[in-house]
Amino acid sequence: MSSIKCKNCGLTNFQYDDACRRCGELFLKKSKVRRPRRFSFGSLLIVAFAGGFAYYAYYGLQKSADDVYAGEMMRIEQQKQDRTVGLSRSEIEKQRTGTFATAIKNSNGLAAHDERMAETQKAMQAATNAQQGKQ
Ligand SMILES: [Zn+2]
Repeated sequence: MSSIKCKNCGLTNFQYDDACRRCGELFLKKSKVRRPRRFSFGSLLIVAFAGGFAYYAYYGLQKSADDVYAGEMMRIEQQKQDRTVGLSRSEIEKQRTGTFATAIKNSNGLAAHDERMAETQKAMQAATNAQQGKQ
């Protein structure tokens, strides 16, 4: 395609002409039409990507919250079962430890909390030791 035929007067113009050489009719070249369309398609992609990312971020947060809640419910259920099931004391102890370890593994927040508790206890112990040293 190396020429453009004028829709108004039918004159065949060169491809690089912006308007008809005879009547001045403006040509809407495909490259000129396509450029804004490509831009809008790109921005649509960006909007879609941002929207998708926001959705997945929200969904991920929601999912982790659900996981924590589900884990908590499971733990409560297991604690309920512990009372009814006729196990020996050592077996109950073992099961409770296992449940607790699983809960820590499942919840980073709980692990961080335990770490903070241990640090607080260590600090309290140090403070107590220092006080006892003075006396
Ligand atoms: Zn023309």
